[in-house]
Amino acid sequence: MALLQIAEPGQFAAPHQHKLAAGIDLGTTNSLVASVLSGMAVTLPDAAGRHLLPSVVRYAAEGVVVGDEAKLAAVEDPLNTVQSVKRLMGRGLADLKTLGSTLPYDIAYREVGEGREPGAVSLDGSGAVPRIRTRSGEVTPVEVSAEILKTLARRAEQSLGGELTGVVITVPAYFDDAQRQATKDAARLAGLNVFRLLNEPTAAAVAYGLDQRAEGVHAVYDLGGGTFDISILRLHRGVFEVMSTGGDSALGGDDFDRALAQWIMAQAGLGEDLDPVMQLRLTRLATGIKEQLSSVESAEIHLELPNGGRWQGSIDRETFNGLIDPLIAKTLAACRRALRDAGVTAEEIEDVVMVGGSTRVPRVRERVKELFRAEPRVDVDPDRVVAIGAAIQADVLAGNKPDEEMLLLDVISLSLGMETMGGLVERIVPRNTTIPVARAQEFTTFKDGQTALALHVVQGERDLVSDCRSLARFELRGIPPMVAGAARIRVTFEVDADGLLNVTALEETSGVKAGVVVKPSYGLSDSEVERMLRDSIAHAEDDMAARRLREEQVEAERVTEALRAALAQDGDQLLDAGERAGIEQALKHLVETAASQNHLSIKRAREALEKVCEPYVERRMNTSVRQAMAGHKLDEFES
Ligand code: ADP
Ligand code: MG
Repeated sequence: MALLQIAEPGQFAAPHQHKLAAGIDLGTTNSLVASVLSGMAVTLPDAAGRHLLPSVVRYAAEGVVVGDEAKLAAVEDPLNTVQSVKRLMGRGLADLKTLGSTLPYDIAYREVGEGREPGAVSLDGSGAVPRIRTRSGEVTPVEVSAEILKTLARRAEQSLGGELTGVVITVPAYFDDAQRQATKDAARLAGLNVFRLLNEPTAAAVAYGLDQRAEGVHAVYDLGGGTFDISILRLHRGVFEVMSTGGDSALGGDDFDRALAQWIMAQAGLGEDLDPVMQLRLTRLATGIKEQLSSVESAEIHLELPNGGRWQGSIDRETFNGLIDPLIAKTLAACRRALRDAGVTAEEIEDVVMVGGSTRVPRVRERVKELFRAEPRVDVDPDRVVAIGAAIQADVLAGNKPDEEMLLLDVISLSLGMETMGGLVERIVPRNTTIPVARAQEFTTFKDGQTALALHVVQGERDLVSDCRSLARFELRGIPPMVAGAARIRVTFEVDADGLLNVTALEETSGVKAGVVVKPSYGLSDSEVERMLRDSIAHAEDDMAARRLREEQVEAERVTEALRAALAQDGDQLLDAGERAGIEQALKHLVETAASQNHLSIKRAREALEKVCEPYVERRMNTSVRQAMAGHKLDEFES
C-alpha cells in the first residue's frame, strides 16, 4: 500500500499523534493554564469564561473550593481560606518568622516525623514544617498548591478533551532547591507529570519568541499582586542564562491598592480604625478604581460608610500616579541593582518584557521606559505571558514539534561530579546550575611515579559513588612520572546548550589530554531524578558518616604509601633496629585498622604512627637540607 503524503513533515500532526500538554503559571495572586491549540498558545478559560484563577483555596464545610468563590469567602471565613500560599512553598520555620506576621491564617509548627509527608521535608534542616490549621485539619503549603494545580489541570483536560501527558510549571528564577522541590511535590500530589519547571522570566521571553533570536541580553520586569521580580537574561546559543535576579517579595499591586485606599479614607474623613470587613471592602474598591485608571483618565468613587451613609468622590490619573510613584521608584532601584549585578548597562538591554497584572498601569510603563530608554514589550497580555511561554515549552517537550531544535534546558537537574579516592564524589557542577556552563577543578596523583589516572564521571546528590549514577569512565595516560601530588590535572566539565556533557582532563605540566562526551539527562526520567534527590535528603547523615570513614581510609593509605617509599629509600641509613621495629609495628597497626568501619580508630592509629615517625621525619628533613646545601658555602645561606 502506498503512503500518500498530505502535508509537509512537521506542518501537520494528526489528532491521535498530538500529545496534550499544558503550561501552568502558579502565581502568588493568580494562576493560569495555557496550551498550544492549532499552533497557537492560548490561555484556557473556565466554564464562566474566566482565564485567571485567583490562587486562593478555601477549606469549606462542603469541601475544597478554589479560585474566585474562595476569594469572595476570604472576608467571612479567613481562617479556612488560604491565600498567597506560594510564599510558604519550601519554607521552614526560620523563614516563617519573617513572613509570619503578614499571614492571616493559623500556622502550626511540627517536627519532621517518621516517613515522608508531602512538603514535610525542610532542606535547611531546621526540621519544622509549616502547617495551616483549617476545618479540614492541618494542610501543608504543598497540599494547598496541589489543589490549585488540580483545578487548572481539570480545566485543561475538559477544554482539550483528554488527559494531559505532562505539564510545564513556572517558578520564580530565584526559587531555591527546596522551593522548586516543593512545587514538584505539589504537582505530583495533583497527579501531574511535570516535564520541567521553567523560570518565569524565561517563560515570558519564550512567549515573545526571544529564544528564536541569535544572541542578546533581555530584562523581564514582573510586577504582580504582592511581588516584584526583575531578571536579566542572556540568550546564548538558544539557551537563556539567568545573569541576575532582584526584586522585592513584598511589593506589588496590593501596595497600589493600599496607597489608594488610604487616600480614599483621608478624602472621606475615615479614621484608621476600620473593622476588617470595612477594610476589605475598601481595598476591593481601591483595586477596582486602580484597574479602571489603567484605561481611563479619571474614575468615580462611591463608598458606603460604616455609619450607613455614602461618600462620593473622584480621582484622576495624575493624583493616582503621585500615590504610586514612590512604590515604582523602589522597583526601578531594584532594576539598577540587577543590571549592576549582571554587569550590563541599561543601554545593552535589547528587550524589556513586561509581566504581571500591575504592568498594565500606564505610569509603570512610562517609568520603565525612562529607565531602559526603550519601549517595553507589552503586546502579549502581561497577565498571561508566563503561562503562554510555559505552554509553548510544554508542547515542545511533549514531542509535538519533532523538527523543533529548541531544547530549553535552563538548569541541570542533578549534580555532576568525579569519583575521587575512597569512592567519594567531588561535585563539580552543582544541580540547578544554568547551562551552558563550564567548570574546572584540579586533581593530582596519589602515588609516586603514577603515569595514568582513571576518571569516573557520576551524576547525583549523594556523597558516595556507589549511590550515584555512573555516566562515563575514561583514562588519562602518559602522565610523566612524578612524586605523588606533583602532577596538576585539570578536569573540565562543560555542559552545552543541548545538555551534552563534555569532560576533559589535562595534565598541565606535560600537556597530555583525554576526554569523553556524555549525555547526562539521557534515560533519566523526572521520577528517577526526584527519587535520587529524595534519597540524598534521607541519607544525608549516613553519607556524612560514610564520607568521614572514607576520608580517614584514604588518608591512612596515603600515609602508609609515603612511609613505605621513604623507608625503602633511606630507612636503613637513618634508623636503628629498635626504631625501625617500632615504626613497622605502628604501620602494621594502621594498615589493620584502616580496614575497620570506625573512622576514629583509624585516625588514632594514623596519629600514633605519625608520632613514632617524628624523629625519623626530622632526620630526613635534615638530610635533605644537607644535600641541598652540599657544594655551597655556609655563609651563602645566611642573610
Ligand atoms: P501574581 O503574579 O502575583 O500572581 P498577577 O500578575 O496576576 O499576580 O497580578 C495581579 C495584580 O495585577 C493585582 O494587584 C491586580 O490588581 C493587578 N492588575 C490586574 N489588572 C490590572 C489593571 N488593568 N490595571 C492595574 N492593575 C491591574
Ligand atoms: Mg506572576
